[in-house]
Amino acid sequence: MRILDDIRLEYDVGEIIRFCHLDRISNKIGDVEEIIEEGYSFIDPKAIYRISKIELKDDRLILEKEKVLTSKLLAEKFKCTPEAAVYVITIGPNLEKRVAELGVHDLYRAFIIDNVGTYALRQTFDLIKKDYKPNCPERISKFSPGSTTHWNIEQQKVIFDFLGIEKVRRAIGVELNNYYVMIPRKSVSGVMGDTTTQFHECQICSRNCEYRKTPFTG
Ligand code: SF4
Repeated sequence: MRILDDIRLEYDVGEIIRFCHLDRISNKIGDVEEIIEEGYSFIDPKAIYRISKIELKDDRLILEKEKVLTSKLLAEKFKCTPEAAVYVITIGPNLEKRVAELGVHDLYRAFIIDNVGTYALRQTFDLIKKDYKPNCPERISKFSPGSTTHWNIEQQKVIFDFLGIEKVRRAIGVELNNYYVMIPRKSVSGVMGDTTTQFHECQICSRNCEYRKTPFTG
């Protein structure tokens, strides 16, 4: 089990402006840099992951002979790899509290800070990817339950059971509620592994999404 609870994120304002498409509204928001800086002051990134031997049976991926993830997509993508890493990452609860406080009174600031949170979550994932496979992070693909129709959100419970519900709560402060929603909300769970050629869930997700990384290929 690997716990990363002292993560420092560096950021490039221009890159965040591009990621959040802020150039469209820059004439309405004043000092973007100051708002981004405020956003980062609320971020407390943490991560936990466990490397597991995997076996495949039909559309099931079996972790250490004890927990079963069910997804045809996962079984297909992991067929050439003997292991995967099961993870939960978060940026903590403070940013979403700030966004809720700002609410509709300062919509633009709330929007930017919320987007900074999404960006920071991606940065946190990139760090654990490098931590897991420092020599070939570009070959690592990740899959999250509920992200696409190919893996049910209920499977988040298997991930938490595999890592240990109490261990995840104590190590990084993330809990799963009865509706399979993680608290804090700016958290992500999933499985990552070497799929030989990198795959991204955006390839099979047809949503009209501003955070898309790769084109929809069907
Ligand atoms: S298109 Fe958007 S919602 Fe769909 S997988 Fe990519 S980032 Fe997620």
